[in-house]
Order: sequence, then C-alpha cells, then structure tokens
Amino acid sequence: MDRYEVLIAGAGPAGSFAAERLARGGVRVALFDGRPPGEPKACGGGVTSKALKAWPHLLDAVGRTIDELDMYSPSGKHLHLKLDEPFAVYSRIAFDSFLLERARAAGAQVFAEKISGRGFKRVDGKMASVLSEGSPDPVASTTPRGLPARGPRSAPGSDTEDGWIVRAQAGAEFFADWLVGADGANSAIAKKLAGPLPPAEMEVAFGYRAPLPVDCEAATVVAFLPNWVGYAWAFPRIDHISFGIATTQDAFDHDSLDALMWDFMVAYYGAGSYGTPTGRGSDRVTGSTMRIWKRSQSVESPEATAIRKELKKTAERYAARIPGLAPRTWDTRHACGQQWALLGDAAGFADPVTGEGIYYALRSAELFADAYLSGSPLDYEQRWRADFGKELQRASQMRRKFYGNFWGAPFTDRMIEFARGHRGIRKVLGQLVAGDQGYVNLKKKLARSALKPL
Ligand SMILES: Cc1cc2nc3c(=O)[nH]c(=O)nc-3n(C[C@H](O)[C@H](O)[C@H](O)COP(=O)(O)OP(=O)(O)OC[C@H]3O[C@@H](n4cnc5c(N)ncnc54)[C@H](O)[C@@H]3O)c2cc1C
Repeated sequence: MDRYEVLIAGAGPAGSFAAERLARGGVRVALFDGRPPGEPKACGGGVTSKALKAWPHLLDAVGRTIDELDMYSPSGKHLHLKLDEPFAVYSRIAFDSFLLERARAAGAQVFAEKISGRGFKRVDGKMASVLSEGSPDPVASTTPRGLPARGPRSAPGSDTEDGWIVRAQAGAEFFADWLVGADGANSAIAKKLAGPLPPAEMEVAFGYRAPLPVDCEAATVVAFLPNWVGYAWAFPRIDHISFGIATTQDAFDHDSLDALMWDFMVAYYGAGSYGTPTGRGSDRVTGSTMRIWKRSQSVESPEATAIRKELKKTAERYAARIPGLAPRTWDTRHACGQQWALLGDAAGFADPVTGEGIYYALRSAELFADAYLSGSPLDYEQRWRADFGKELQRASQMRRKFYGNFWGAPFTDRMIEFARGHRGIRKVLGQLVAGDQGYVNLKKKLARSALKPL
C-alpha cells in the first residue's frame, strides 16, 4: 500500500493548488480526481482581479481578460462599466489542467481516479503501527495489504501515528496521515466529516455553452433576474460563450428559469441585429444594448425565432450546485479536525450572493498548506475564519437584502439606476466586481459615494 503524508481528493482549483504548495514544501502528496478528460466542471470560469493580483501566475493559463462589463437590472436598465481592474474568464478544462500540471511539476503524485465515496477510514496509531510492521491486520474491515517499509510518519504537530486508509475506485488502497476533501460541492468526505448541508444551503447554477458570435466582439454581461434571487451571465471564453443563471435551490423552478435563460441568450445575440450564433451579423455585440426581461411582445420576431432555432442545435446544457451557507452555519461548521481538512466548495466556501468560489478555493488551499507547512495544520480553522470567514458570513446575511427591495424597487435595480448617474457608485460597483470591495462595508461605502458631489 502506498503511503502519503497528505492525500487530496479532488483536483479542482482547491485540490491542485494545495497539492502544488504542499509538494513544493517537501510534503509527499497524492492528488486524486476521476473526471474524464475533456469533461469540464460546470462553471462560468470568472476569476476576479483580486485573485489575479494574489496569484499572478493564473494569467499564464489560457483565458481571456475582461475590462468592460455590461450590467442589467431586473427591470432591464443597462449600465456599461469600464473596469479599472480587469478580471479573467477561463474554460475550466484549461484552468484546471493548468493548475493540475503545476501540482504534478511540483512533485505531487497525480492519480486519474476517484476516491470511492465510502472508501476512507480512520485508523488509530496502534493499528497504523501494526500495519507498518506488515503484521496481519487485527480488524478485518480495514485490512490493507501491507504498508511500505518506511512506516508511518506523524503529521506535523502530532505525536500520534494515526491516519487514513483510502480506497480508490479501482480498488487500490492508500495510507495517508492527512485526508483532504477538495471534492467539490457534493463532497462525500465533507458529508461524513463535517455533516451534510440542507438543500436550503445550496444554490443551483445551470446554463449553456454556446458558440461565439462570428464577426462580433462578444460582450460580457451580468443581468439580475426579474422576480428571482440571482442573476444571469454571459462570459465569452476563447472558443465559446458560457451562459448561465445562478439562483437558490429551494425556490428553483426549472421551466420558468430555463425560459428566462433562453430569452437572455436570444437577446444576447441581438435578435438578428448584431450577430447570430452562426455569424450572419456584422455589428459588435459589445457596446450594444440588449432588450432583456421585456416580455411585452407576445409574438417573437422572425430573427429571434431563427436564433432560438440555431441555438437549440448548438447549445450544450450544464448544471451544478454551489454551496450557499446560512449565516449561522459559518459559526458551527468546521473545515478541519483530527487529521482531516476541507477546502473550497467541499468546505462551503463560496460567496452566497454571487456564487463566486474560485478565489475561496485557491485561498483556502493556500491557508491550509501554509498551516500544514508551519507544523500546525489545525491552525487552518482559525486562519480561514480570520481571512475570509467573516466576509462570507456577512455576504450570507446580506443576500436577502441584496436581492430584496429598497425604496420600493429591487435593490439591484436601484444600484444600477444610481450607478448610471453617479461615478462614485460606479467605482464601488467596479470594485465589487473586481472582488476588492467586500460586503462588510458595502452599504456604508455606497452611501458615502452617493453623498459625494456628482
Ligand atoms: C454553473 C456554475 C458557475 C460558476 N461560475 C463561477 C465563476 O464564474 N466564478 C467563480 O469564482 N466561481 C464560479 N462557480 C463556483 C466554482 O465553480 C467553485 O466554487 C469552484 O470550482 C470550487 O473549486 P473546488 O476546487 O473547491 O471544487 P471543484 O472545482 O468542484 O473541483 C472538485 C473536483 O473534485 C473531483 N471529485 C469529486 N468527487 C471526487 C472523488 N470522490 N474523488 C476524487 N475527486 C473527486 C471533481 O471531479 C472535481 O474535479 C460556479 C459554479 C457553478 C456550478
């Protein structure tokens, strides 16, 4: 049985980044992921400028930087934002394999295989010692087939030889001092070690990958939904556009939301005026204003019908969940314990307002690796809480207000309306998109900016 100091399940951004940093620090790391080659993780692939500043090497991954954004309010009001700090949009195949290859190059052992959902078991020091001597296993249910000669090594800061026996899907077993769950929003490891999350603490995101409009520069769009919590997006990547809607799982009504998604996509291609998925258009999609969320015309134009028909042939659907922890769960749920840790989505680390999770996946990986390398892996708990825990808890407290009403209209409508006429508010909004403006002082900052002279 192969033995590792840290075994990581999941080679998304969290798992690969943790593996890279640990391996660079001299730790013997195994990284498992059984995602079939070429199958992307469902994701918009947007990476904030805050993340790009923290880890500039991310810009070496093949992607697209975005410095202009079109935003729409639930009533269809438009705001064009020029971003001081560009963000990037990646295909998740490109982004994930970039990070995985860095982990491999740093010395992590990569296995293209899943960890079996129930195939991990803690063994105590006594058993680990017995196993390391190659003696018969005293407990039949956890019998491994012998350990390598060098025997168990203690985790830093630990004086025991406890660990984990982990079974991969093909049946091989591995021993690890530490087990790290970076296996995403449906993490089997998190369910077992930190407890399952109720459906109300999950968001749903779904959408379509569709062709780039030919002869057009594709716009990057975020549009808040009318009468629903959440927003729709259009993120152009190198070779296609990722369209999507992120909303709460408890109020999810597939048919209505899918109809909104299609209206959004058809409006995006400009109903024949700006370009179509097949490229008949000649104008730019960027800079043009979409007519969205307006269902007053009961009969669709022939151009819109043509676009819809074309998209039906080419658009590929995807859907997945994003954690959206409730305010009090941030206090009660732990991301590490005795020789285990959870990173990224597995730990619930996504912004409950926007669903943004890549930054938190990378940051949690970094915080865990640093705590491990410093010899006190359990410090990870207090490190993530101090670093971004408060901010995400504040975001989950804000969610209802953010998507609720303000002065008789949705807050998001007011925000876009005010930003259209006020440079200060536009700036704060740009910082929010960049990831540099948190929710903790958002209201104060917006109010202060609004009071400044135009
Ligand atoms: C539709 C959608 C759009 C999104 N858009 C954005 C966005 O634009 N920007 C943003 O910041 N965030 C976005 N998010 C959130 C973002 O995708 C996640 O927060 C981020 O991917 C979390 O990274 P992770 O490494 O924790 O998990 P993941 O990226 O989910 O990676 C987990 C990995 O674990 C693997 N795995 C699962 N089970 C096992 C197992 N048993 N054994 C081994 N491996 C396993 C999976 O194959 C996967 O590769 C979006 C999410 C969705 C669903």
